[in-house]
Amino acid sequence: MYSLMVATAPLSDTTWDSVGLESRPTFSDERHLRIYGQRTADGRLAFGGRGAPYHFGSRIDPSFDRDGRVHAMLRSILIDLFPALEGVEFSHAWGGNLGVPRDWYPSVSLDRSTGLAVARGYVGDGVATAALSGRTVAELVLGRETELTRLPWTGHSSPRWEPEPLRWLGVNAVTALFAAADVTERRFGRPSRAAAAFWRLLGH
Ligand SMILES: Cc1cc2nc3c(=O)[nH]c(=O)nc-3n(C[C@H](O)[C@H](O)[C@H](O)COP(=O)(O)OP(=O)(O)OC[C@H]3O[C@@H](n4cnc5c(N)ncnc54)[C@H](O)[C@@H]3O)c2cc1C
Repeated sequence: MYSLMVATAPLSDTTWDSVGLESRPTFSDERHLRIYGQRTADGRLAFGGRGAPYHFGSRIDPSFDRDGRVHAMLRSILIDLFPALEGVEFSHAWGGNLGVPRDWYPSVSLDRSTGLAVARGYVGDGVATAALSGRTVAELVLGRETELTRLPWTGHSSPRWEPEPLRWLGVNAVTALFAAADVTERRFGRPSRAAAAFWRLLGH
């Protein structure tokens, strides 16, 4: 799947006075199509989210990192959250792909017969997770049994995704469902039943 981001140019002190976020907390909200943001050390607002289409066959291409429609949507959501940003310059727009296992469960493993170690499936929460998985792989390679190698993700095996075109249909249908649920919830001020049913199906 893809996650895309935008960032403003460094903002003036007056704009920051209106926006807040003095201690630079990361922030999100309760919408189904996930968003995330943070005030950067150099005074920008960096903001990202889901909503980019899934590409048939889990295809990855550098051009998918730049989807003008999704970047415009992110800028508009951010201004909606912080109206003081109306008219500010956005200097950056980028994105990248995320590995999403069928059960949304990251895993680390080592196959001694081939010597291949695998760490994967961070579902977009990979900065700390990649470091932890790297340390876990190191312990596996050294043949040690430690609290890291005893974590439930070691040796975990995720089910396979459905074959195409079912995968394409399923992922894009769920993305569309979440986008529609966010609009409905905003308009009517109550949880979307369709989205709630889907989250229950996922075990949330
Ligand atoms: C838009 C976006 C937003 C994200 N936001 C968050 C977030 O807020 N929080 C979070 O925890 N995670 C986030 N993630 C996920 C996180 O960035 C990744 O999970 C994490 O960076 C993975 O770390 P890594 O070291 O495995 O891979 P990477 O950070 O991708 O590092 C791999 C490195 O290897 C280099 N490389 C590749 N091939 C070769 C080669 N053949 N030879 C030499 N070098 C090579 C690459 O250039 C790269 O520098 C986000 C991802 C995206 C795309």
